[in-house]
Amino acid sequence: MKIICIGRNYAEHAKEMKAQVSETPVFFMKPDTAILRNGYDFYKPDFTNDLHYECELVYRIDKVGKNIAEKFAHKYYAAVTIGIDFTARDLQQNCKEKGLPWEIAKAWEHSAPISTEFIELSKIDASNISFELKKNGTVVQQGNSTEMIFNIDQIIAYISTFMTLKKGDLIFTGTPAGVGPVVIGDVLEGFLEGKKMFSFQVK
Ligand code: MG
Repeated sequence: MKIICIGRNYAEHAKEMKAQVSETPVFFMKPDTAILRNGYDFYKPDFTNDLHYECELVYRIDKVGKNIAEKFAHKYYAAVTIGIDFTARDLQQNCKEKGLPWEIAKAWEHSAPISTEFIELSKIDASNISFELKKNGTVVQQGNSTEMIFNIDQIIAYISTFMTLKKGDLIFTGTPAGVGPVVIGDVLEGFLEGKKMFSFQVK
């Protein structure tokens, strides 16, 4: 199983990161060891002093495919959830300045906490999915799938020109504006269509 993450997929977030919006999706990957399931504690790693949350819609691939046309992409996924693309922002900034890959900032152990529950897209309006993140009870991020620069079908079409997508692969679709730091003791709660999907304490 692989985890593919899209960067700069919300205009307001690209702005807050002072990043250019790209003409094609920007993606990077996390290993399967990045997954942390809801219910387990999240431990802040020692190698960062600027750990940021990025709450994102996560789609699960349900069918193997390569070179998937955008118009057929909807046949390759059926469920969505939310997760956090944890980012060691200080390390990422250093990588960006040196033109290096981002893995040390993004792909570390348990850097992708995710809800254990997926919502079937047939049961909701799949073209209009809202989500939000609360930190210590206060809403810090709100997003909607309609605000994505590249929608999930375009993302799947693009990624699958480079690699085979397999059943169980996860696609983190980028974060809306409002990213920020967490410190030990903070509690993060994620909501999808108003339903609480996960709760993690930073330890
Ligand atoms: Mg992200």
